[in-house]
Amino acid sequence: MPIPRYSYVDGRYVLHQYATVHIEDRGYLFSDGVYEGINLINGKLLEPEMHFERLGHSLSVLSMSAPMSARVMESIIYELARRNRMKNGFVYLQITRGSARRNHAFPAPEAWPIMVITIHSDRTPPLEQYEKGVNALTAPDIRWGRRDAKTISLLPNILAKQYAVERDAKEALLVANDGYVTEGSASNAFIVTKGGTVKTHPEDEEILGGITRFVVLSLAYNNGIEICEEAFTLEELYDAEEVFITSTTMGVMPVVCIDGKKIASGKVGKTCKKLYQLYQHHVHQKC
Ligand code: PMP
Repeated sequence: MPIPRYSYVDGRYVLHQYATVHIEDRGYLFSDGVYEGINLINGKLLEPEMHFERLGHSLSVLSMSAPMSARVMESIIYELARRNRMKNGFVYLQITRGSARRNHAFPAPEAWPIMVITIHSDRTPPLEQYEKGVNALTAPDIRWGRRDAKTISLLPNILAKQYAVERDAKEALLVANDGYVTEGSASNAFIVTKGGTVKTHPEDEEILGGITRFVVLSLAYNNGIEICEEAFTLEELYDAEEVFITSTTMGVMPVVCIDGKKIASGKVGKTCKKLYQLYQHHVHQKC
């Protein structure tokens, strides 16, 4: 018999097929909520402190309160993993402002925030993508001004991703009105310049401060690779020696072709290979 799948919904572990929230949940009505995606590796959460700190930041941007402490959330995740007999996977955690009669203004008195958690089997892309690199397309960045908050309001991101997927590309790299690349639809974007500097958009309100971005920049810095947290233009992207993207699900993923144009030789570059190895090593040390 297959193991039944469980999810967590507002205080209860329930069979996934019965895991539901109310139709007046403000996440459903207004995208009024935040989320996190965390890797579970060898039965351990990867970088839980950073994920919970970012969750706290996202909640504060939306003037929302957390239903419980990070420590309790963490223990719920481990209990859910245990019930699903899962040691490796992707944990999705979402908190919405709760369920209340539809009204744009926040419910008064405050509604009880609704937290849901699901665990998905390992979503790491096939090794071939890391060996050969992937294609990306560029698309206009039409998102709101607080991209540092990880909110469930993701319409521009999903439209950009769909645009890429329909054209056999792995990711859409988003370009702001001023011609600067911000990030990917679900990843952070990096270039390696001809001089060997790893360049990525600074951590500000224009991008999501990716946990993988932070770890990869630290690894680069500690291993003598020059880093520069400055935005780069579309021209710099096309002219780069190497391009790569990072996220919790992908880790470090090389991009070898953008908008049908090869990046340098069109092969995975040495800096990206090095960062991939450093990141893999880091993950295995942590978990
Ligand atoms: N930017 C966006 C818009 C994302 O959705 C993600 C993935 N959550 C990232 C960057 C990468 O963040 P992380 O490394 O924390 O997964």
